[in-house]
Amino acid sequence: MADIKEINQIGWYLDNSYANLPETFFSKVKPTPVSSPRLVVLNEPLAEALGFSSKELKKEESTAVFGGNKLPEGTVPIAQAYAGHQFGHFTMLGDGRVILLGEQIAPSGERFDIQLKGSGRTPYSRGGDGRAALGPMLREYIISEAMQGLGIPTTRSLAVVTTGEEVMRETPLIGAILTRVAKSHIRVATFQYAAAGGTVHELKALADYTIKRHYKELEGCENLYLSFLKAVVERQASLIAKWMLVGFIHGVMNTDNMTISGETIDYGPCAFMDIYDPAAVFSSIDRQGRYAYSNQPTMGAWNLARFAETLLPLLHDDENEAVRLAQEAVSEFSQLYHNSWLSGMREKLGIFNEELQDKALVEDLLNMMYKYKADYTNTFLALSYDKPEDVSMWNTDEFNYWLVSWKDRLSRQAQAKDVCWELMRKSNPSVIPRNHRVEEAISAAENGDFSVMHKLLKVLTCPFSYSTEHAEYASLPPKTNKRYRTFCGT
Ligand code: AMP
Ligand code: MG
Repeated sequence: MADIKEINQIGWYLDNSYANLPETFFSKVKPTPVSSPRLVVLNEPLAEALGFSSKELKKEESTAVFGGNKLPEGTVPIAQAYAGHQFGHFTMLGDGRVILLGEQIAPSGERFDIQLKGSGRTPYSRGGDGRAALGPMLREYIISEAMQGLGIPTTRSLAVVTTGEEVMRETPLIGAILTRVAKSHIRVATFQYAAAGGTVHELKALADYTIKRHYKELEGCENLYLSFLKAVVERQASLIAKWMLVGFIHGVMNTDNMTISGETIDYGPCAFMDIYDPAAVFSSIDRQGRYAYSNQPTMGAWNLARFAETLLPLLHDDENEAVRLAQEAVSEFSQLYHNSWLSGMREKLGIFNEELQDKALVEDLLNMMYKYKADYTNTFLALSYDKPEDVSMWNTDEFNYWLVSWKDRLSRQAQAKDVCWELMRKSNPSVIPRNHRVEEAISAAENGDFSVMHKLLKVLTCPFSYSTEHAEYASLPPKTNKRYRTFCGT
C-alpha cells in the first residue's frame, strides 16, 4: 500500500460512513487483483472536481487502484447488500461485481461514492464471475457522461482500465473495470432489503442515514419519513420527465436500478431513440415492453409504490393510516411527472407562459412524428434553428398547419422571437449518443483505437452547441431492417 504522503498528493480523501450502518447492509470484501491493469480512459474534469490530481491518476500507482490491485489510503472496501424487483419478480441481489472503496469528500464538501465495477466476486455474486467486459464499461462511460452533458442527474464515470484478462461471455471478451462515481448507491432495492429481512431499527437506521445524506433539508419536518417519501417521489418524477424529454430509454428500470438520490443508474441496456416511437424498446430481454419508452413513468410510479411499502412501519403506528399516507404520496407522482414533462416540452418549443391547449399542441406534434417516422432529436433541432428538414413530415399539410398554430402560439407571449430561439436552443440537444455512433466508438476502442470515442465524447459533453462537428453527429444511422438490440448483465 502506498504511504499517506503519496496518496494525499493524488487526492484521495475517503470517508466510510456507509460502513457504519448495521452490518446487515454490506459485506467487507476486497477487490480481486488482476494480472496487468492498463488505464484506457480517465475523466480529467471529473477527477479535478473530486479533488484528485489528474496527473497523478495517470500514474501506475493509480492504475493499480483502478484495477483493484492496490487499495487507496482510508478505504474500507465493501459490497452493498440489496434486494429488488427484477421485471416484477422479487429477488435477493447485492453488489455482485462491484466494490465500494469509500466516499470521496470533494473540495466542494460534497460526498461521492467511489466504486470499482467488475472488480471480482463478492458474497452477492450468485453464479456470476464478478467481472465486466470493456465494451459495456465504455458504453456506461459514454452514456453516463452524455447524460451529464444533457443536464440529467446521473452516476458518473471516472476511469476505465483493462485488466489484461479475458472475461467469458458468449465469446471471450477483453476484461475491464469501470470506476463509478455517485452521490450514493442507495437504491429502492436497498430499502426493500431492509424491509424484507431486517428489523425496524435497521430500516430506520437506513432511512435516517439516507435522509442525512440526500435530503438534509427535511430534518426537523413533522412526519419526517412521509416527507422523505414525498421528496423521493418528486425527484424521480423530475428525473423520468428529463429522460422522456431527450428520448432516453433506460431499459431495465428494476427497483435495484432506481436510486434514492434521484440519479440515473445502470447503463446496461439503455439507448436513445432516433425515430419517435412510444413503444420503443431496445433491450433483448424486455420482450413484453415493460420498460418501453412510454411506459417509463408508469414503471417509475410502480417502483415508488414498492419503496413506499418499505417505509410503512415508519410512516404511522396505525397500519391502515400508514398505507393511506403512502398511497397518497405515491399518487402525487403522476401530476408531478406531468407538470415536469409539460414544462420541459414548453421549453423545447420556446414557450414561456402557460395555455391550456399547450399539451394538445405538443401531442399533435408527437403524433405526427410517430406517423411520419420523424427523428425525435432532429425534429426539435430543426424547429430550434428554423431550418426545415428534408423529410416526409415537413412536406405534409398537417405539419405545416401545425407550424402555423405553433408560431401563433409563440406570438401570444411577451418574449421576442430571438428569446424564444435562445430558450429552444438550450433545451434541444443537437447531439445525443446515437446507437450507431456509440457502437462505432466501442468497436474502435476494442481494437485499440480510442480516438473515435474521445471525438464522440467531445461533442456529447456539450450537446447544446451546434458546430460543424456537432452537425456530423446529428446525422441518422444508415437505414437497416435490423432492430438495434441492447443487453443486460454484460
Ligand atoms: P444489473 O442487471 O446490472 O442491474 O445486475 C443485476 C444484479 O446482477 C446485480 O446484483 C449485479 O451485481 C449482478 N451482476 C451482474 N453481472 C454480474 C457478474 N458478472 N458477476 C456477478 N454479479 C453480477
Ligand atoms: Mg444494476
